[in-house]
Amino acid sequence: MGLLDGGRKVSMPSTLNALQPGDAHAFEAGGQRFLYLAPSAAVMAVDDVSAAVLDAISKSPRSSEEIVADLSDRFTAQDIDESLDELIRVRALKRIDAPTRRPPVIVPLTPVPLSTMVLNVTNQCNLSCTYCYEYGDDKIVATENGKQPKMMTEETARASVDFLLRESGSEAHMTFFGGETLLNFRVLRSTVLYATEQAAAMGKTIDFSMTTNATLLSPEVIDFLAEHKFGVTISMDGPPDLQNKFRVFHNGTGSYDVMAPKAKALIQKHRSRPIGARVTLTKDTLDIRRIYNHLTQDIGFWEVGFAPVTASPERPHAIGEEGFERVLAEFRSLAQDYLAAALQNRHHGFSNVRETLGEIHKGASKAWPCGAGFGLLGVSTAGDVALCHRFAGSDDHKLGTVRDGIDRSRQHDFLESHHVSNKTDCQTCWARPLCAGGCYHEAHTRFGTTNQPNLHYCDWIRGWTDTVLQIYGQIAQQNPAFLSQFEDANEAPQPS
Ligand code: SF4
Ligand code: SF4
Repeated sequence: MGLLDGGRKVSMPSTLNALQPGDAHAFEAGGQRFLYLAPSAAVMAVDDVSAAVLDAISKSPRSSEEIVADLSDRFTAQDIDESLDELIRVRALKRIDAPTRRPPVIVPLTPVPLSTMVLNVTNQCNLSCTYCYEYGDDKIVATENGKQPKMMTEETARASVDFLLRESGSEAHMTFFGGETLLNFRVLRSTVLYATEQAAAMGKTIDFSMTTNATLLSPEVIDFLAEHKFGVTISMDGPPDLQNKFRVFHNGTGSYDVMAPKAKALIQKHRSRPIGARVTLTKDTLDIRRIYNHLTQDIGFWEVGFAPVTASPERPHAIGEEGFERVLAEFRSLAQDYLAAALQNRHHGFSNVRETLGEIHKGASKAWPCGAGFGLLGVSTAGDVALCHRFAGSDDHKLGTVRDGIDRSRQHDFLESHHVSNKTDCQTCWARPLCAGGCYHEAHTRFGTTNQPNLHYCDWIRGWTDTVLQIYGQIAQQNPAFLSQFEDANEAPQPS
């Protein structure tokens, strides 16, 4: 038995007390058994002795002596003892009377450098997507009552750049968002030029990305994005029948015919960074494989990421329990294609697998579900700084302004109260290193508060994490070199 992350073996005396399964998730891949250890977020290959030990206690707690006696015809007492010691040490086994450990809430005292700033350059959109969180019934920010300007001014955008470069380390990432981002291309362009100049003067590097619905991509815009090596994500839901179901202009006309040729033109011209699509899944648009094939083969996207719509359950497009089962089944099927490609060192563009694989390989163990509120901040059109772009402009979620900076005590309180150790249900969940309670915006939409873990989708999260763990286990055995791509990649937190 060995830890794939190179963990050290430390002996410990075996216990007289009865033992039961601990804080780990068992899975199998390619005929090999593994454990995903929640306390360390490590993946551990399980040898025959430990597999037998785990089987022995799977039905009811057993003492070490009973386990040694049960398995004495197959293994030596020394091997069984060693296995018990290690399983207890990594907390895959625990004594039945062991108290549940709650890790301490540790919030860094010195501010974490800001890595990604998401600039909402407008809160207006030329589409009226029925499910949009910004305009629909679930909206948090009042974008139409005049409190937040419709467009960010050049002055606010420059103050935002100064803020980002003040707060960041040597690398900064600036993401433009909306509404429809390109409705304010004028400010986007001048901001990029200003930020490039300022970053160079300060000896920092800065890169740019944006999300767009692609309807306003013109040759001039495409040239600019290519020249400045923008990372571009296009929101697109698939072939015409699916795209036009929700992604419509204000007069109800579908947007496919306008945006698809423009997306293709961008992909053809802008070659320095791969272009990705982001698909919002609703109850009525769950044809994941068909969507994936269309977006990669017919349009030419390098990667496609899928996100279930954020909506309260009573909305007609919300995905219910059955819908999530279907999403999981379709994800699992497409993930098998990713695995087949990975084993042959071929690219596959299902980015949901790539992202989770990267987190597993790096041993990610999150105290917070995403970078919102520290590594990633959102800025509203008025220059208010909030948790992320989805809360930008909401007074309840404001952490400061780009002109006056961050209210550190408010930020500290937020991080403390949202730490995974303060989410009781998550404390006993093996998926917490990767989930940590899930998206604050989703929680706010469902439960009216960012504090609440997203317990409505635990089955989905655990089911999907288990699938990617199996894929990880198979790649680790059959083509471990493939995983080296995740070792250096230090991805900045990105908005979703
Ligand atoms: S929200 Fe659910 S799946 Fe996520 S860590 Fe908490 S209990 Fe686990
Ligand atoms: S996961 Fe949710 S809270 Fe975090 S950045 Fe994305 S939208 Fe914001």
